[in-house]
Amino acid sequence: MKVCIIGAGPAGSFAAYNLAKTGQFDVEIFENHGEVGKPVQCSGLVTKTISDIDPIFSCEEFTKIIGGKISKVRLFSENEKLELELKEPDLVLDRERFDKWLSALAEKEGAKLNLHSKFIKFEREWNGGNGRGEIIVHIERHGKIEKIKTDFLIGADGFFSKVSKGLGNEREFIPCVQANIAYKSDPERMDIFFSEKYRELFAWIVPKNAELAEVGLGCKEGTSEKFREFLKERGIHGKVSGHTGGPISLYSKKQNISDRNIFLVGEAATFVKASTLGGIIPSLHSAKALAGAIINGGNYEKELGNLKREMRIHLKIRRALDRFSDADYDALLKMMNKESVKKLLKEHSRDEYSGNSFALKLLMAQPLLTKFLFKAL
Ligand SMILES: Cc1cc2nc3c(=O)[nH]c(=O)nc-3n(C[C@H](O)[C@H](O)[C@H](O)COP(=O)(O)OP(=O)(O)OC[C@H]3O[C@@H](n4cnc5c(N)ncnc54)[C@H](O)[C@@H]3O)c2cc1C
Repeated sequence: MKVCIIGAGPAGSFAAYNLAKTGQFDVEIFENHGEVGKPVQCSGLVTKTISDIDPIFSCEEFTKIIGGKISKVRLFSENEKLELELKEPDLVLDRERFDKWLSALAEKEGAKLNLHSKFIKFEREWNGGNGRGEIIVHIERHGKIEKIKTDFLIGADGFFSKVSKGLGNEREFIPCVQANIAYKSDPERMDIFFSEKYRELFAWIVPKNAELAEVGLGCKEGTSEKFREFLKERGIHGKVSGHTGGPISLYSKKQNISDRNIFLVGEAATFVKASTLGGIIPSLHSAKALAGAIINGGNYEKELGNLKREMRIHLKIRRALDRFSDADYDALLKMMNKESVKKLLKEHSRDEYSGNSFALKLLMAQPLLTKFLFKAL
């Protein structure tokens, strides 16, 4: 059985790795760019729960890709500040190396990686055989279109997913500006800033080391201008060594993510946590779920388990925060500055997909948060 995967990001390469290692599939990845992992449009921040997804995410090779660890978080609103210590530090992955490593693992298991190979469109061809029909994938390589027949097509082509468009989907998004800036800070501490000026997301400073940080801001309108204002307000004027921003999808449960033998994974399927920007872990979860469904002839949506529920909860939180004023953000941080909430934030991971949702636990630890968020909806 042939599987064509569009995109060699974390979702595409991890799906390819899982499928190829069974030895049952002829797996080909098609990547638009001439090099995997470039350009980087990500801070690379993940929780330690990445190692629960697969043992490869705790092997020695993986640990070499970790550029830093975040054990302290400061949250700022106009007049309030909340400081947290994390029991399990977050990991800052070197995204370029992470993507290269994962695609190399997939190749080692037998997947074929095609670079400079741009997916253009798919067509269906009915052959009556398995009832699903074959798919003809159009790939542009060196100015020529090649038509490739496949049994399964996986769209792991991220935000701009053409496979998703082919399934009739549209997406809502938040533009993010992000830059690598010379900035002296504690390399283990991340800062997040909430403001009504950029209420549809937030601004962040994620250190890469003691001298360099990824500084970013996301909001629906005037993002670049607000980013410049933010830098000015925070007195950040170090040398910029690269821009790593880009749009980020907002999860939508209305997305059509599986149509017989065509599937979407990762950000192509809008699997990004709307309240935190976290897309790497949901991408890996969805890739594993889909590979499992294809291998066992199961149902992809079922294999996703709690992932969709988590996405929905985070979207609801996002929608509430979208309406927050500076006074609301001040009140929120004040409420979170309670020992039971801080303990929960310290001890539990934001990426718990089995059992009780982290967001629900948080609301239980401070019931006022529930009232407050619903008031804002
Ligand atoms: C500014 C910013 C910061 C972020 N920070 C974080 C963070 O700290 N932590 C986190 O977890 N998430 C973060 N994210 C989100 C995260 O980057 C994405 O959710 C994640 O990369 C999704 O992985 P993916 O494999 O689904 O897609 P991608 O990583 O986008 O990979 C898609 C691949 O498909 C290829 N492709 C696209 N179109 C085609 C085509 N037509 N033909 C062939 N190939 C194609 C692309 O070149 C790319 O290689 C951030 C996002 C942004 C914008």
